[in-house]
Amino acid sequence: MSKQPSPSHLAALDDLLEEAEQWHVNAGDEIIHAKRMGGKWRTIKWLSGSIWLLLFFGPYLRWNDRQAILWDIPNRQFHLFNITILPQDLWMLALLLLFLAIMLFAITAFSGRVWCGFLCFQTVWTDIYTWIEEKCEGTPQQRRKLDQAPMDLNKFGKKLGKHTLWMLIAIWTGISFVAWFTDVYLLWGDLFRLQLSSTAWITILLFTVCTYLLAAFMREQLCMWVCPYARIQGAMVDVTTIVPAYDFHRGEPRSRMKKGDADEHAGDCVDCNQCVAVCPTGVDIRRGQQEGCIMCALCIDACDLVMDKIGRPRGLIRYESLNGLEGKACLPVYKQPRIVITSLIMLAALLGIFYGLSSIDAIDLKVLHARQPLYVLQSDGSIQNKYTLKILNKLADDVTVKITATGPAGLKITSRQLLAVQHGTVTPTSVFVRVPRKELTVESQPIIFHIETVDSDKPFSSHRESVFIGPKR
Ligand code: SF4
Ligand code: SF4
Repeated sequence: MSKQPSPSHLAALDDLLEEAEQWHVNAGDEIIHAKRMGGKWRTIKWLSGSIWLLLFFGPYLRWNDRQAILWDIPNRQFHLFNITILPQDLWMLALLLLFLAIMLFAITAFSGRVWCGFLCFQTVWTDIYTWIEEKCEGTPQQRRKLDQAPMDLNKFGKKLGKHTLWMLIAIWTGISFVAWFTDVYLLWGDLFRLQLSSTAWITILLFTVCTYLLAAFMREQLCMWVCPYARIQGAMVDVTTIVPAYDFHRGEPRSRMKKGDADEHAGDCVDCNQCVAVCPTGVDIRRGQQEGCIMCALCIDACDLVMDKIGRPRGLIRYESLNGLEGKACLPVYKQPRIVITSLIMLAALLGIFYGLSSIDAIDLKVLHARQPLYVLQSDGSIQNKYTLKILNKLADDVTVKITATGPAGLKITSRQLLAVQHGTVTPTSVFVRVPRKELTVESQPIIFHIETVDSDKPFSSHRESVFIGPKR
């Protein structure tokens, strides 16, 4: 392909270079005012951030007259839409944590710091804060000028507007965090009446202050200097990891071409600094992989836009492995041992979680057969067994359940069959079952206990098998 640029391309390049004069590389010692540009990765960043925002503000959703997401600590229950998870089911949480930890490892091994660039709460909140900053104070150049200008009414008004919006978001974040643990409408009511508990006040205050400081002032510097994940990622990535990378073979030597000045030997990088201008951590990706790069891929968007403007193919900065940049063949993903092993662990954890969720019943039944004595011979000639039934009610309300049983012919329950069961608790009850002796052909026969709600809008039921024991034959 010819490297001879057209006049319109050169004009676009002149504009870019003029703007580039105003940029310099940040070494982490100042607030970075990164330029915002549209593009595929910017859109993906917004979408992935929105998922977290939806999750974080999930407690505002209602589901069947109840908060959709609620950690009900006093009652030791976790509600997730229709599902109620009690301490007995917490093994699923352990599996979920295992799944997330392994997933983080696998994604990092495969594609670098995807978490940092697209999903981390710090990244998402900082993105919102810098978006507000741009709306209040203008482009990065205007913001830098404003920072250096002496305080006057105009500057004061803009700064006040920005910090007010930032603080409101921080307060909303603090309140919404507490809403994960209590009914959100009651929380807001108590807040306006100033009747919140001291724990709630302190948590809101802590979250508000942290959100404000971290998203407004620390920003991506937190990723660079504080977050330990940046330090340990070196152990997770290697030359096969696909990361945003600058194709130095194609880009070098750089050349700031002017009109009528076409260099046949120059690379495709026109040294416009747009990739640095958009970088939230001020990294120049052309210097290779650096600790400060959170792999948000925004420099890919910026460079693609430049390539479009000067009529050269996209992808000078692109997702690529170091091996790929050197033209070396990479093993397909399914042949890379660490990806295969981590995928298998994730699959096992996921299957366990699905099994757990699918087997969670709204009411659960456990049956214990009394051992002392195993059976009692009654005066009417029948054999009686005693059982302890433990009924767990995971519903939001108290219910009454009916206890029935099926098993040997002539089986009869002689204890009470209707039982009130409190929500969120295990209610034990003793059940006596009699069977005529002539019906017991073997020493031990299966018996199945059933429970069914009788006063709930939607009937729930559960059953559990046990044994009915008689004299030796
Ligand atoms: S890599 Fe792309 S965006 Fe960065 S300076 Fe070179 S041409 Fe400009
Ligand atoms: S170098 Fe590129 S991928 Fe890395 S943080 Fe900066 S903009 Fe994001």
